[in-house]
Amino acid sequence: MKIANVAGRATVVTGPGRGVDVASASAGAYGPGLPDLFRQWGRFRAWAAGGTLESPEVTFTPEQLGPPSPRPLQVYAIGLNYRDHAAETGADLPPEPLVFTKFQSSLTGPVTEVTLPTKTVDWEVELTVVIGLDAVNVPEADVWDHVAGLTVGQDISERTLQLTGTPPQFSLAKSYPGFSPTGPYLVTPDELGPADRLEIGCALNGVTVQQSSTSQLIFSVPTLIAKLSAVTPLYPGDLIFTGTPGGVGIARKPPKYLAPGDELISYITGIGQLRQRFVAQEGKP
Ligand code: ZN
Repeated sequence: MKIANVAGRATVVTGPGRGVDVASASAGAYGPGLPDLFRQWGRFRAWAAGGTLESPEVTFTPEQLGPPSPRPLQVYAIGLNYRDHAAETGADLPPEPLVFTKFQSSLTGPVTEVTLPTKTVDWEVELTVVIGLDAVNVPEADVWDHVAGLTVGQDISERTLQLTGTPPQFSLAKSYPGFSPTGPYLVTPDELGPADRLEIGCALNGVTVQQSSTSQLIFSVPTLIAKLSAVTPLYPGDLIFTGTPGGVGIARKPPKYLAPGDELISYITGIGQLRQRFVAQEGKP
């Protein structure tokens, strides 16, 4: 099942630009918004698996879509979690996941315009997990039952602020408005299939800059959820940005960053794509 956030309403996607409104199809039992759905995820999932969605279809454009989880209680993000990315940065493989947050105010849907606060803003396409059921001390074998679905995320990053100070701090520099686009859909694990061999990448102005596979992940989705949930409870709707593969701008020689007018398309096979256009901050060249 693919679920979209169509102007705030949970919608089961039935085809390109088409879907069924969950609240209408369930006579108000589920939804109307994605946060409502996450509060009832176990029951909703059982209902959706058992029934046919007898309701008129609605149509939507990618521009109308909001984030699959618009108001997560917690957002986790993982640094240096792809072998090819660790190699390009020259860093040792981390012995434990490196965890930071992207603040909730930076979340958007899949198709947006993003203001560039500086000239050192970078891209990081990421497989992003949406939690469906409370997760506390979940063993790796049981992790997928706690996942609502997977989506595409961009961990847009302002590198100057990120790398200022010792030790550097990540969360704030990755949380400017619009720096966390997600979408286009939440794709349930059964629909997507194995998450450890998905093609993931992004293209800047039509030129591929990141192209990799989730087989490069150092800590897999099950390992991440087991390790995170051993420390903090994970709640329905919580997001985990699982890290970015190689090909980021800062690792290039010379480094390359986003400029006004650029268009960035990020994709994961089986999920879909994000599209960001970048504009200059008013009053700045
Ligand atoms: Zn990242």
